[in-house]
Amino acid sequence: MWGLHLKNPGELELKEFPVESPLKENEVRIKLIYGGICGSDIGVYKGKIGHAKYPVRPGHELVGRVIEVGEKVDLKTGTKVVVTPNTFCGECENCQRGYRNICSFKESLGVNVDGIFSEEITISSKYVLPIPEELQDEKAVLIEPFAVITHAFEKAFITKGTTVGVIGCGTEGMLSIALANFLGAKVTAIDIYQSKLEKVKAAFGVHTVLAHEVKDEKFDVVIEAAGVKQAVEQAVGVVKQGGSVILIGLTPEATLPIVQIVRNEITIHGSIIYNFPEDFSKCVDYLLNDDFDVKPIISNIFPLKEFKKAYIYAISGQCGKILLDFKGGHI
Ligand SMILES: [Zn+2]
Ligand SMILES: [Zn+2]
Repeated sequence: MWGLHLKNPGELELKEFPVESPLKENEVRIKLIYGGICGSDIGVYKGKIGHAKYPVRPGHELVGRVIEVGEKVDLKTGTKVVVTPNTFCGECENCQRGYRNICSFKESLGVNVDGIFSEEITISSKYVLPIPEELQDEKAVLIEPFAVITHAFEKAFITKGTTVGVIGCGTEGMLSIALANFLGAKVTAIDIYQSKLEKVKAAFGVHTVLAHEVKDEKFDVVIEAAGVKQAVEQAVGVVKQGGSVILIGLTPEATLPIVQIVRNEITIHGSIIYNFPEDFSKCVDYLLNDDFDVKPIISNIFPLKEFKKAYIYAISGQCGKILLDFKGGHI
């Protein structure tokens, strides 16, 4: 069984791994169809994520099929599935309060434990969600990154006519734009790259503006999906009085005008990943709707053996989602 192996930051190779066998009673073996390269995979690759461990098998976004199940697993082989790559214990105080996304014992696949960029993975059935066969693979592989957005959208009321500013047009930004647009909001996409704005305009037909050209526009809800200081500061600057800012980017620090936030009664929400499986299930419902088009978010699909090229594209920061295709194996 072949998979990617990140020895140290920057040292990525394709390697043969032994198949983990036999399965424990609660485990599932999944054969991958597609894996998605995420911003955090690039962070781990570059050595920029403090809690990352090396060597590690990278990757955490997938769609695949069950090929073997442990004795106590109620899933049929052949079932199409996705997985949550963030573990939760179910017992700590945060889990008990319903915040499984911030479980005190959370481990993140592809960051501090081995991830999923390999032909097959073995995982506890507790982290596996069966999905409808008719959900296309290219859409299903977006469920994990999209769950970040369905979770974030719970923080504010976004409906027909809500003005929504989305800062940052990477994958998460584009998924936010797609969802807000689908819900009937009036969306403005903001980015520092004209090329990304053009792509967003062509895909979703929303209003776009370069970050440094934003003037007097104000939004009911602002979603910060760029993960940089300037974007967070701009988000707070362009929200209406009484409005909400949802931060999903992981910016180490930013300077915020507290008096303005207090006087204008601005609500700032932090939103991290999702609760599994409910936020994933919401994604499935949206993605099954033919009117909800997320395919433009995928820029390129590379076979596993071209992983180096795939990473170069992903690192460029100029693309949408890059997928690795595992269907042809490693050759
Ligand atoms: Zn991801
Ligand atoms: Zn927990």
